[in-house]
Amino acid sequence: MDCVFCKIANGEIPSKKAYEDDKVLAFYDLDPQAPVHILIIPKEHIQSVEEITPQNSAIVAHIFEVAAKLAKENNLTNGFRVVSNVGKDGGQSVPHLHFHLLGGRSMKWPPG
Ligand code: ADP
Repeated sequence: MDCVFCKIANGEIPSKKAYEDDKVLAFYDLDPQAPVHILIIPKEHIQSVEEITPQNSAIVAHIFEVAAKLAKENNLTNGFRVVSNVGKDGGQSVPHLHFHLLGGRSMKWPPG
């Protein structure tokens, strides 16, 4: 499948890894929007939050466990943001489920 994040997950495209296990990969965003900007993805291809079902939702809990661990490791003790963009209006540019872990600065609300 011609999916850039599948290729990152299987090592075809290099990335700077922050965490990896058999189900998920976390890697540093190429175009960081905050001092800490890590993407957490399932290795399995799921297009977006829209495709989460009772059959595959356990991966989302696991991704949030990884987010908590990475936030601790990166000393994001003042807080951080975890966000997933969905589809055109959500601003999703890569159609493989991913959660942005952003921290190290004060976030604005609402996002643009
Ligand atoms: P947006 O591009 O609007 O942030 P997404 O929520 O789909 O939309 O985020 C995709 C993210 O993937 C972007 O932050 C982008 O910088 C990042 N990205 C794209 N290709 C790579 C890559 N090869 N390695 C690391 N990060 C990447």
